[in-house]
Amino acid sequence: MPHPQPAARPDREPARRVTEEIRPGRIPLRVHPEWARAFPWVVQGTTVRAGGEARDGGRDRAARTRTGPTRAGHHPTAGADGGTGEDADFGLFTGAPAGAVMNRWESLAEDTGCGSMVHARQVHGRAVTLHEATPPGLLLVPPCDGHATRQAGTLLAVSVADCVPVFVVAPRARAVMLLHAGWRGVAGGILEAGLAMLERDFGAHAREAHMHMGPAICGRCYEVGREVHEALGLPRPASRGQPVDLRRVLVDRALAAGADPAHLTTSSFCTRCADAPFFSHRGGDAGRQIAVLGITPDDFGSPGGEWLDDHRRERDRQPVEDR
Ligand SMILES: [Zn+2]
Repeated sequence: MPHPQPAARPDREPARRVTEEIRPGRIPLRVHPEWARAFPWVVQGTTVRAGGEARDGGRDRAARTRTGPTRAGHHPTAGADGGTGEDADFGLFTGAPAGAVMNRWESLAEDTGCGSMVHARQVHGRAVTLHEATPPGLLLVPPCDGHATRQAGTLLAVSVADCVPVFVVAPRARAVMLLHAGWRGVAGGILEAGLAMLERDFGAHAREAHMHMGPAICGRCYEVGREVHEALGLPRPASRGQPVDLRRVLVDRALAAGADPAHLTTSSFCTRCADAPFFSHRGGDAGRQIAVLGITPDDFGSPGGEWLDDHRRERDRQPVEDR
């Protein structure tokens, strides 16, 4: 059921909606514009479906309609570096050609200045891995759905294509955490487990955490069975196939865990809607984007050039307590 986006929603929503902006690069990222200003020490974003979005601004989305039977299993082998319009698949466990996928990961490492990246096969569980010093290159750790670190230069990565990437920044502790949250992980308590880890290992309470529910399938597109509603603790729907807004459920759970509503935001993007610049599993895409979160290395200069310089100037105008 396609509908226009960013979707207008009733204002009763407890979390502010934001639209991620393009950060150009060899691997364009959609980044949280408020966080880019408030947390210049953080690198954050979600890769986009087509490497060419930075050039065309996403205006040729009509040419990239999904749901056709040829879309599933389609794995173009080029287009890692933007401008080609080819799919920018980052999936390591999906059967995509390894060489092309690894080239994209390496380009992203160069763009962000993070020489170390961590990732894992995701299992819809609640385990969150704490990373201290990590080796250069791409580190694959045992299966889990969340990562956390205070180590500058270590880029956390989860793959998504409808599930919710949950970005968490704890400014006082200078810590970051990134979760992959599908309905099973949410029902299993991955958000609560992650917030408990933040407090235990970093001394950061949920009320200090800034959280963003990134690009994911929206509350009108995500039709699920009654058992999913029940597993999430929602009222049993009267009819089958009623949709669930997983990001709304996550926001409610974050608030229940003590989060400050002023620190919660939700992406206005739906991965499933027809004009989305992201892969959608439900939409028949085999590809995966990755969400990334890390702490910029202290010695990292000016990779994206003007983009970072602009945001440094913005930062210098911010009151110190907001940084
Ligand atoms: Zn949607």
